[in-house]
Amino acid sequence: MSDPLAALLQLSHDLGREDRPFAILGEGNTSARLSDGRFAVKASGRSLGTLTANDLTVCDQKKLLALFAGENLDEAAMETALLDARLDPAAKRPSIEALFHAWLLTLDGVSFVGHAHPIACNQWLCSSRAGELAEGRIFPDEVVCCGPASVFVPYADPGLPLALAIREKTLAFIEAHRAIPRLILLASHGVVALGGTTQAVLAVMLMAEKAATIRFGAALLGGPTLLSPEQIANLVGRRDEAYRQRQLRI
Ligand SMILES: [Zn+2]
Repeated sequence: MSDPLAALLQLSHDLGREDRPFAILGEGNTSARLSDGRFAVKASGRSLGTLTANDLTVCDQKKLLALFAGENLDEAAMETALLDARLDPAAKRPSIEALFHAWLLTLDGVSFVGHAHPIACNQWLCSSRAGELAEGRIFPDEVVCCGPASVFVPYADPGLPLALAIREKTLAFIEAHRAIPRLILLASHGVVALGGTTQAVLAVMLMAEKAATIRFGAALLGGPTLLSPEQIANLVGRRDEAYRQRQLRI
């Protein structure tokens, strides 16, 4: 799909499907990089599963990124700043999470971002063992879809504090791994999936949820067996897996 707004709507519907455990009511949000420093993001309070073109708000990326340098604004000032970032004054108010979307969409190769509250992932992330979900990889398809490692972000208040925490931990990840992450885990909150295509974002979300479910079962049976760093590196370098990623557009 060459129209990023149409692709973003499809991704939103895929993430918000009632038979998938990712988002209910107004949970979660999605975004797409557009040309000329613009991006589209879900409007505040809309449901992913039934999102329409009118529920997407096109924003000026620079205006939101400028907020990263300042003090945390009070709720009224932040609302004004979010409204001011819209290109069309008739468009709906962007989600407060537009801040972290604006920054993540500056990363190399990231054209789409999906954020949701998947149930199995959140069973881990809302527990005292939240950090374990980010430890290693447990099966090959998790490496293929979610990348060799995840970013883990301790709890931060929604809005600017969360956006700053995501930026800090993601930059540390990029420094350590010399790669852009595909999956960001937010303690006591949910997950963020990044990709160059909507298929990649959906694949990260589906596989992260499957891996969390399997990890939960493995934890009950004495603990998961983690793939070794060598096994993970081999999977990342395999030509057949690279071919499969291209076929799936992930
Ligand atoms: Zn959320």
